[in-house]
Amino acid sequence: MTKVGKAMTDVELVLDAKADLGEGAIWHARRELLYWVDINAGFLHVFEPKSGKDDAYRIGEDVGTVVPRISSSERPYESVMLALRRGFAVFRFDVAKAYVVADPERDIPANRFNDGKCDPAGRFWAGTMPEGPGGVPDGGRLYCLYPDLHVEVKETGIRCSNGIAWSLDQRTMYYIDTPSMEIWAYNYDLETGALWDRRVAVHVPKNEGYPDGMTIDREGMLWVAHWDGWQVVRWNPRTGRKISSVKVPAARVTSCAFGGKNLDELYITTARTGVKAEALRTQPHAGGIFRVLPGVSGLEAFEFAG
Ligand code: ZN
Repeated sequence: MTKVGKAMTDVELVLDAKADLGEGAIWHARRELLYWVDINAGFLHVFEPKSGKDDAYRIGEDVGTVVPRISSSERPYESVMLALRRGFAVFRFDVAKAYVVADPERDIPANRFNDGKCDPAGRFWAGTMPEGPGGVPDGGRLYCLYPDLHVEVKETGIRCSNGIAWSLDQRTMYYIDTPSMEIWAYNYDLETGALWDRRVAVHVPKNEGYPDGMTIDREGMLWVAHWDGWQVVRWNPRTGRKISSVKVPAARVTSCAFGGKNLDELYITTARTGVKAEALRTQPHAGGIFRVLPGVSGLEAFEFAG
């Protein structure tokens, strides 16, 4: 086990973004960039730690998450995949435009897409959540967009679809439906994308905050952002135990991703949505992007293969 030293507590504000609902942190190793989104504000962000530059692209609707997409000799432009209110989309940087490729919930206007991630086979998984009038409380679903652009429903009865990660042996998928206060594990088939045998890997005690975004480190441990928990927690999915925690100077911690040249930096998004003006005085950098050296490294993010 890697020893976690003093660096653990030294959380650094790297971008005072004041995002309403910063989310979806993901490091694109090929470009050495951090992608993230401001969901309610409807922006895709591209942050370059080297220069401190952050480019914001207005999408014009909720942006649940962003994932990298493989480069192709047939495409002379860079692009990423987004999960929007209207479904799965390609975003092209050359024209700064999103193109919807699949909208599995066209008939459920009360739902919007939320968090998501690509699996080791390059499929894009993202789930939905009800939001606003007419929404069915457990009417969210988990979807998977295959590289050939067909979509499959992978889970139903979801309240607030959030973090997803795959085990190092690629035989287990971890998934969070936030209000459950649990991290679920499924058997997972890399070949087909099939899921079965759901069980609870971690029960999250209420005082830790709500489990939100998630990533996995090189030791197979889960790093989970805790909404209203002021922290990112490292959980052992095999024992269900909390190993350690990174304190963040914002209550609403939403997602985290390993980044940097050696994937040994942890980038953390936060939100200020719903935090009263009074409370914001004690967390002036809520909505910012933070970074910490957690003492362990992560894996390169999988890219969408379509
Ligand atoms: Zn989230």
